[in-house]
Amino acid sequence: MAGFRLLMATQVGEKVARDEGFTNLPVQPLAIAERKDLHVEKKPPGMKGISGALIFMEPKPLLIYSSEHQNIGFENFSIAHELGHYCLPDHPSQILQEGGQHFSRAGFSEGALSIELEADHFAAGLLMPGFLVRRLIDDSEVGIEGIRHLAEMAEVSLTAAAIRVAQCARFPICVVVSAGQAVLYTFPSETFKGLGRNIFLRKGADLPINSTTARFNALASNVSAGRQATGECRLRDWFTTDRNPVLDEQVVGLGSYGLTLTVLSSDELAIEPDRDEDDEEVALQDSWTPKFARGR
Ligand SMILES: [Zn+2]
Repeated sequence: MAGFRLLMATQVGEKVARDEGFTNLPVQPLAIAERKDLHVEKKPPGMKGISGALIFMEPKPLLIYSSEHQNIGFENFSIAHELGHYCLPDHPSQILQEGGQHFSRAGFSEGALSIELEADHFAAGLLMPGFLVRRLIDDSEVGIEGIRHLAEMAEVSLTAAAIRVAQCARFPICVVVSAGQAVLYTFPSETFKGLGRNIFLRKGADLPINSTTARFNALASNVSAGRQATGECRLRDWFTTDRNPVLDEQVVGLGSYGLTLTVLSSDELAIEPDRDEDDEEVALQDSWTPKFARGR
């Protein structure tokens, strides 16, 4: 599926937040849903394995969200995801074609259904509009502290904030989510992809042996207790690539989900390359510029 459709879904989310007058964080999806004249209800107990639903019915469409984790970030993302199905072009007609009832699974996942991915990207754009994210992270420290700050301000999960920072950041940052010794997914920022050739990790790849993350995950209680660890690594520890700068590796356990969030970044690489540096660096800088222009 084209990344274009996901970018568009993000932008529709940002536009809805703007149209509803949100110029500061947090954007409140519940207030937006009510203003759009949706009937909103918490998910009844017993509706298992579902993060929310959108049901077209009279007199008003019904939006159901999950509050079972007693976690404002999870609730916000759930409501925003269902709002996506209501606001994104083609979603209501597709849901109506399939009987008028849509049930959503999990959060920001790699789900196979395109409308699920689109609704997740809508939710990320709605809850964390790009201009607000950039304003915030430009003033924060590169890495996990900036991500925590965004998660608190936007009232979203740490993972959702981390992925959005990677999408919006001007500095090189890569988010890795792992379970045990395996990589689940990675989100490099555009500038991180510019650090070397072929910055890519397949799903299920082994964590680098002896990395801070691998050692952290070896003790399950680190993950469940939400502990944090910090180390240093090299780009080639993680990727089969041509360059090998030093990176900070920040690791945090995501608690009961059994997942770990790793942030690869560098304060030093965030500084813009000096124009007098060698040609390679200039070429690298040139290759970043068009991507920024498209991303805005
Ligand atoms: Zn859905």
